[in-house]
Amino acid sequence: MSAILPARPRKRLFLGLTLAGFLVSCAVAFAAWRLASPGLSQISPWLPWVVAAALALLVLAVAFGVGLIILAALGFPVLTVAQRLAWWALNLLFPVVITLGRLLDFDRPRIERSFIELSNHLVRGRSLHISPDRVLILVPHCIQLDLCNHRITHKIENCKQCGRCPVGDLLRIALQLGVHLAVVPGGTLARQVVKSLRPRAVLAIACERDLVSGIQDIFPLPVVGVLNDRPNGPCCNTTVDVDAVERNLRAIVAPR
Ligand code: SF4
Repeated sequence: MSAILPARPRKRLFLGLTLAGFLVSCAVAFAAWRLASPGLSQISPWLPWVVAAALALLVLAVAFGVGLIILAALGFPVLTVAQRLAWWALNLLFPVVITLGRLLDFDRPRIERSFIELSNHLVRGRSLHISPDRVLILVPHCIQLDLCNHRITHKIENCKQCGRCPVGDLLRIALQLGVHLAVVPGGTLARQVVKSLRPRAVLAIACERDLVSGIQDIFPLPVVGVLNDRPNGPCCNTTVDVDAVERNLRAIVAPR
């Protein structure tokens, strides 16, 4: 079964949905407050206003975060501390964005690809130059040829670089640049590798869903996401554009 990915959607899809999601959330919060106010005022006449003040603070913080993301996407420098607020707002709105996108007939992977584009853009904007020994390439196990008998998840050097799957090329690039490379069977082990190696940046290869959850899980660590290709369907003999991996790595690794 062929699973050729469509053209990459631009980051403005996710930005547009985030903005729309924010406005919808404000409207829903206001409607909920209006509905709950009579009941709240029976408990205390001040309670509706206390709740209104808390909601207003939340809306202001999210609005500020969304504004920062838009500024960063447009190329304006945003302080790291402000980026945290922006990512918090994005994570908060993410489920709303996905729901709204579905209602507007955008499928989830397309929205996720747009999110990954946006995230990569923000990481590129930080102009990172990181020592190679603090950079990690994280690769899903499904990229290894299923007929290969070499146990590379425990020791990547077991790969013989025979050319039958992309692992050999990724190992060559990792050795050339001096960065870490780990092939992991799942998200839990990926998080363990990140915890033990303590990199300062990660280049992750995965499908849309895993990249989005990985990027969100290990924030504030910068993650450059490279989507895999699935010519044999999901999770079986997947591939990746090795040139894109090398280009993205060279952009964040300081020359030795
Ligand atoms: S490149 Fe490495 S992992 Fe892939 S099939 Fe060859 S030996 Fe196995």
